[in-house]
Amino acid sequence: MNFEAFFATKLDGLRGEGRYRVFADLERQRGTFPRATRHVDGQTREVTVWCSNDYLGMGQHPKVIAAMHEAIDRCGAGAGGTRNISGTNHYHVLLEDELADLHGKESALLFTSGYVSNWAALGTLGSTIPNCVILSDAGNHASMIEGIRQSKAERRIWRHNDVEDLDRILSEYGPERPKIVAFESVYSMDGDIAPIKDILDVCEKHGAMSYLDEVHAVGLYGPRGGGIAEREGLMDRVTLIEGTLGKAFGVVGGYIAGSAALCDYIRSFASGFIFTTALPPHVAAGARASIRHLKESQMERARHQERVRKVRARLDGIGIPTMQNPSHIVPVMVGDAAKCKWLSDLLLDSHGIYVQPINYPTVPRKTERLRITPTPFHTDADIDHFAGALSDLWSRCALARKVA
Ligand SMILES: *Cc1c(COP(=O)(O)O)cnc(C)c1O
Repeated sequence: MNFEAFFATKLDGLRGEGRYRVFADLERQRGTFPRATRHVDGQTREVTVWCSNDYLGMGQHPKVIAAMHEAIDRCGAGAGGTRNISGTNHYHVLLEDELADLHGKESALLFTSGYVSNWAALGTLGSTIPNCVILSDAGNHASMIEGIRQSKAERRIWRHNDVEDLDRILSEYGPERPKIVAFESVYSMDGDIAPIKDILDVCEKHGAMSYLDEVHAVGLYGPRGGGIAEREGLMDRVTLIEGTLGKAFGVVGGYIAGSAALCDYIRSFASGFIFTTALPPHVAAGARASIRHLKESQMERARHQERVRKVRARLDGIGIPTMQNPSHIVPVMVGDAAKCKWLSDLLLDSHGIYVQPINYPTVPRKTERLRITPTPFHTDADIDHFAGALSDLWSRCALARKVA
């Protein structure tokens, strides 16, 4: 086989469909978040980032950076092994305690990313619990879908956030059948929030395990940043809570939290946990500092929500259509792949505003969008600049406005 020709043809196919991904080459600047330096054609330009998942700017927080410096000075660069073979550093143990406490669970278990935590936990549960069936929300993230696929367990997809549909499908299985219901709290592309209480009611009615991905909510919601389930007083009813250290906590890594037996089980049977080098100690130290800070401080969460309201109000005022939702994610609806890419390119090249276009297959065709994530550090001037530039380009590509 001519491998090179095969790769090239496949890539041309992506380009032809407008799905070829081009990365912005950025250098984040410590202390000036959300500013970054963009490298392009051998030159550099200053940009303002409007699509970061470092939702609260914690990746730049002095306490986080200090904790990472201190740990790297004490322990050096890497963990030096898998968790089992010399790689468990005291910082991992402290971080797992911190996470268990955050979610009010007996135990927590770290992974190298949120993706790996979903893939490994669902993959292991689905493949090792005899005759297990996994009920997956239609909007679930790729990491859950891959974990379920890899488990080879029977998989049923329930309509997105539709509790009646979930109840109906669960009713098809007898009480003896092991069932896992996998869903998210905040869905990252539409920014909608699951009816967690109703889902838990249905899970309990059918004796199903609940598996909740709070990746886009941890740090951001709840009085201590435990997520939507914390905000709604539901954490104790969720069997397994999964989260990331890479978004609002600003570092990298993933985790699950649950009963001691559940975490010990995943620890003991998950290939994706066992056979990989542990996170560097300083990463664990930084994540722990971030979590500890956000358990106490309300300022970041309050300012974040206030900025989101301000951006929404500004866009509403000039008739730019956004998808309404109760979260911090502001999807600006373009509905055309080419225009979405064009808007993003011009915002970046002419206005120093960076928003990555979100096209198929991440979202359905005709719902292409710019996914805006305001942070506590976007100023009024940033918002004015963004709204002005978007308004100008919106007219130039003849997109419709919403009448107020
Ligand atoms: C980003 C994301 C993950 C993966 O988390 P990482 O730490 O980035 O690997 C898992 N679930 C959802 C819903 C996500 O959006």
